[in-house]
Amino acid sequence: MARGLLLAALALVPVVILVVVVLVLVVIRPGGAHEPTPGLTAEAALASPDGEAIGAVRFLQTSGGVLVIADIQGLTPGGHAFIIHEVGACSPNFDAAGDHFNPTGAEHGFVHSAWQRGGATEAHGGDLPNIYAAADGSARADFFTVGVTLDMGPAHSIFDADGSAIVVHERPDSYGQSEPDTGARLACGVINRT
Ligand SMILES: [Zn+2]
Repeated sequence: MARGLLLAALALVPVVILVVVVLVLVVIRPGGAHEPTPGLTAEAALASPDGEAIGAVRFLQTSGGVLVIADIQGLTPGGHAFIIHEVGACSPNFDAAGDHFNPTGAEHGFVHSAWQRGGATEAHGGDLPNIYAAADGSARADFFTVGVTLDMGPAHSIFDADGSAIVVHERPDSYGQSEPDTGARLACGVINRT
């Protein structure tokens, strides 16, 4: 009888090893169990504080991160912080968008970021590179971020319970190298699925 139980226990060893390996690969791996769904899209229509339409930001999920495509007009020339905020709201004023989207309780700025491809960053998930407006006030920018995902479910989803918004600030971000001093919110857009 005892020998039978021992054999049964031994027979379970490969199963236990398999479960542990799967847990290590899927759950403990940096970035968690999240597998992105390439092809998902979203868009934010940007408005100025007086409600004028001043451009759009499109988002495309890829296997290596989210491609952000910005096409904006009517900005003051020069650098502007360009950041995803934690609430999908831009009214009654742009303060409704709340603080920077920060699903991991991280510090602000890329100087804190590990920048592991496909993994979690140590910066705010919503921290993005600055955009630069030309003398005519127009700005174009295309870049990837791994700080957010368009998939539902993961903590760094743009589409969490209260959504997200993208905000253009008055001044450029120092990426955490000094106290954030990005000034007023010049443009805001709620991010919606497309
Ligand atoms: Zn931040």
